[in-house]
Amino acid sequence: MFSRILIANRGEIAVRIIRAARELGIQTVAVYSTADRDSGHVKLADQAICIGPPPAGESYLNSPRIISAAEVANVDAIHPGYGFLAENAHFAEVCRSCRIEFIGPSAEAMKLLGDKVQCKQLAIKHKVPTFPGSKGAVEGEEQALKVARQIGYPVIIKASAGGGGRGMRLAHNDISLRSGIRSAMAEAEAAFGNPTVYIEKYLEHARHIEVQILGDQHGNVVHLFERDCSMQRRHQKLIEESPCPVIDDDARQEVCKSAVRLAKAAGYFSAGTVEFLMDKHGDFYLLEVNTRLQVEHPVTEAVTGIDLVKAQIRVAAGGKLGFTQSQIRQNGHALEARINAEDPQRGFAPCPGLIEQLQLPGGPGVRIDTHCYTGYRVPPNYDSMIAKLIVHQPTRQEAIATMSRALGELQLSPIKTTIPLHMDLMRNGSFIKGDVDIHFVERLLEKK
Ligand code: ADP
Repeated sequence: MFSRILIANRGEIAVRIIRAARELGIQTVAVYSTADRDSGHVKLADQAICIGPPPAGESYLNSPRIISAAEVANVDAIHPGYGFLAENAHFAEVCRSCRIEFIGPSAEAMKLLGDKVQCKQLAIKHKVPTFPGSKGAVEGEEQALKVARQIGYPVIIKASAGGGGRGMRLAHNDISLRSGIRSAMAEAEAAFGNPTVYIEKYLEHARHIEVQILGDQHGNVVHLFERDCSMQRRHQKLIEESPCPVIDDDARQEVCKSAVRLAKAAGYFSAGTVEFLMDKHGDFYLLEVNTRLQVEHPVTEAVTGIDLVKAQIRVAAGGKLGFTQSQIRQNGHALEARINAEDPQRGFAPCPGLIEQLQLPGGPGVRIDTHCYTGYRVPPNYDSMIAKLIVHQPTRQEAIATMSRALGELQLSPIKTTIPLHMDLMRNGSFIKGDVDIHFVERLLEKK
């Protein structure tokens, strides 16, 4: 097992990883930018190293500085968290060539699954359901038009190297497809240095269902069932839950098994997520694979009782999973609400600033992951998520009641947050019935 690891990340996820490492008896080294001097993750780690100024390119995304910090601190491994360098295969290679283990999958698996065209081709080969669309990259407008006429409009144009919704265009007819292809290719080239795009059928009403997978370096791959992340705003997840409230056991087994097939085909180990959209008939289509820990991993931990971060660390050190698929069960229901420092009155604009008062909720079934405390100043430089509130109860109805109660206890002022929105959603009839799709929250906000 490792004796010391560095966490190449910040905020709540750095805190989460420090906690897992400490319970495994591993020392922790935090890194921070000057904007994060007072962050909870810096205080909690055994050692903390400043790696640069606030812009991520000069700190959290700067691999030479992170590798230098790892060498100075003499760590055995680096956990990248999510975002920043977590899905950067080159960084994983650099770590390993410096004899520092990267706590994540192999660089090869990251490259293969991170390229959406290659990932889709692998999925088709292994009978994982994908959207109707181009078999691979589309070379130009004429080919795109041909595919679109075959599958029917609307279609979505996506960048093979895409992420964060960039390089995507919706097209309802030939004219918007022609201009969409050109602008998507230009955007993809500028954002990712790769202009490859492909097209697929656009689903108007869909739920986002994703499967947690976990593998070791001895060829074992299991799934930890699904999460439903249909409650989104601008493709950003707001509330996640496990299990999905509307799928039956047969569909669940099928989608989970297909995720495992894809992971095995890619030679995957560590934690990962296979994302799907589900249409109103209950059919699934592959969206993408995230080769890292997800923000919403705690809901899966709650229902399965498996600590995903500890599992990632053990697997990176060469350990075996230590359990089989049949030993993994879904117990009860878990919900996660992302608490963002955003102002709902100003179109959810980021709302950084001083937290003068912070009172965290507690009691049965409540978990909170945060790096914030009373007197902490949320810096304006990074993602606006400042805490995650996770609840776990025997039934979904009880989980919703616990979430409402815990949101009421959570006092955070004077900065504006998504807490009032979450309170409204917990009282919303459609959400309570589980009758939502990925555009539900946006439609609700438009009505207001
Ligand atoms: P990214 O990696 O850029 O986030 P994804 O492939 O995960 O791209 O897609 C992001 C979001 O775009 C999805 O969560 C979904 O809301 C929407 N989307 C993507 N593909 C489709 C599709 N074929 N039909 C409908 N919506 C889609």
